Amino acid sequence: MKTDVLAVGAHPDDLELGVGGVLHKLCQRGYRVVILDLTRGEMGTNGTPELRLEEAAQAAKILGVAERVNAGLPDGAVANTLEHQRKVIPYIRQYRPDILLATMTPDRHPDHAAAHALVRDANYFSGLGKIDTGHERYRTPRVFYYHPYTEETTPSLVVDISDHMEAKMASLRAHASQFYTPGSAQEPTRIASKEFWDSIQTRAAYWGTRIARPYGEALYTDGPLAVDLLPGLT
Ligand SMILES: [Zn+2]
Repeated sequence: MKTDVLAVGAHPDDLELGVGGVLHKLCQRGYRVVILDLTRGEMGTNGTPELRLEEAAQAAKILGVAERVNAGLPDGAVANTLEHQRKVIPYIRQYRPDILLATMTPDRHPDHAAAHALVRDANYFSGLGKIDTGHERYRTPRVFYYHPYTEETTPSLVVDISDHMEAKMASLRAHASQFYTPGSAQEPTRIASKEFWDSIQTRAAYWGTRIARPYGEALYTDGPLAVDLLPGLT
């Protein structure tokens, strides 16, 4: 079945943090979205790989994505190597999306920065027929990038997610082992702090303010976006 968007995260909650609202909006509009988590998040201080898979599946259901698959790369050791590229290319060739979503760089988590380069280059090499994976070659024409935590530079565009903020937060609550859950026995980490949880809303509200809407999510492109003429004309 044709896939419109293949959304790639390094860890099972990256996409919800960075573009949960965009993913929910896409699914609500009828686009077919597939999530590819590169790792199972097994290096996380809280949660087990099994629990994180369950939480990720629940979050995927809330967002409405068609499939959520996992590449099984090592958490804490994602790298833009030939070996990891060859593990990502089959997903790009199998789903043949119109759009790829991947993490942006720079980012304080080395896996996020590595995943940026890995997905970008895997997509390029996926277009070369002499790399044989048993699939037809395919290069996704458009890649958008997102930050799971914090925008480090001015984004290329901001998507209005005002009607999808509740779904984004619900998808994040599904990752109960990772984020602030009052009364739970979590190890204290930055991600599990109340400050981090509150910052998710603040960040979306900030980008909303920048586009005069309640909530927004920021995206980056590799180059200028083509438009037919000036946006905003009616
Ligand atoms: Zn992450």
